[in-house]
Amino acid sequence: MFYRKMPRSQDSLSILGLGLMRLPATPEGHIDEERSLEMLQHAVDNGVNYFDTAWVYYNGASEQLMGKFVDRAPRNKLLIATKSPCWLIKTPSDLDKYLYESLERLRTDYIDYYLLHSLGQRSWNEMKKLKALDWLEKQKADGRIRHIGFSFHDKYPVFKKIAEYYDWDFCQFMLNYLDTHYQAGLSGYRLASSKGMGIIAMEPLRGGKLVQNIPPGVDAIWKKSAHAWNPVQRALNWIWNLEHCTVALSGMSNLEQLKENIELAKLSPTVELSEKELRIYNQARLEYIRRIAVPCTECRYCMPCPHKVAIPGVFGIYNEAVMFNDRDRHLKEYKGWIPEESRADKCVNCGACVSKCPQHIPIPDRMKEVAEYFQEA
Ligand code: SF4
Ligand code: SF4
Repeated sequence: MFYRKMPRSQDSLSILGLGLMRLPATPEGHIDEERSLEMLQHAVDNGVNYFDTAWVYYNGASEQLMGKFVDRAPRNKLLIATKSPCWLIKTPSDLDKYLYESLERLRTDYIDYYLLHSLGQRSWNEMKKLKALDWLEKQKADGRIRHIGFSFHDKYPVFKKIAEYYDWDFCQFMLNYLDTHYQAGLSGYRLASSKGMGIIAMEPLRGGKLVQNIPPGVDAIWKKSAHAWNPVQRALNWIWNLEHCTVALSGMSNLEQLKENIELAKLSPTVELSEKELRIYNQARLEYIRRIAVPCTECRYCMPCPHKVAIPGVFGIYNEAVMFNDRDRHLKEYKGWIPEESRADKCVNCGACVSKCPQHIPIPDRMKEVAEYFQEA
């Protein structure tokens, strides 16, 4: 395993981190403890030392699983990251409540990397109002947490505001070769590294979407590469080529994936992407973007639909399905995330949304297209 220093700290973090939000599950959807603990043990035995969970993952069961592992592994070999559920925090005492619950579940006296979870403009405003940073500094001074950070889901200007407001030890955001201009993206990477923050890259494989069902046009672009890498290797090497990226955090869901990623991490120092290779990555990115079916920016100006159609949500999933060439996987997302009464087939073509769309999308026609695409036989 290879390690990178967390700036402003003596910690050496394994370049591959294990995310505990997609652990092996039982048929009932609970964490499969035996298989998950086996994965954690294999990770530690092979030098992985960064473990990322959150108060909210699996309704607390992810932290509890990590806690069970803490009982059987030397604590000083583990760097544990967990996150405070900002969206549930309404009073200063809530900050204490969630931290103490995490400490109890994790069976530890301290958390190495503590994050405000999923900051965006609204939750950041709320955290400032509650003086969360003063509170975090107090917890650090009292030894309950060692490093202060945040994870992020919003647009880059919001990231900039948050990053520049405070000397954070580290931050975590989605980073992969496709999303270089999405949310924090590479601008966030540059800003965070210029401020000496540790950078934890999440979704390096875009939840697995970059490594399955590669569209033929993208595949043809990869054939120009000098490296016969598989899709996982390609995606992880792009992250590890970013020298200020401390950890590539991958939510592996079985031992085989973990073993594969560990082997790739062992090869990572041999990887330095040439300008030519980086151009090939960019061409692949542009080919994915070219496949976007509906130019919806999710601005929500069309909302609310008087007939409850979740317009941007529906277009978002449809776009990903087409872009990633994977209807079956996205049909599950569509049925899981969009309530039945808000799906595309509930559009009655009333036209109320059409003039509100700055992208001039013929929304009712495109809704018909989406309804047909996701229609089940
Ligand atoms: S046209 Fe369809 S999506 Fe648009 S407002 Fe009417 S019902 Fe909603
Ligand atoms: S107004 Fe247009 S671009 Fe904005 S969310 Fe609605 S459909 Fe998408």
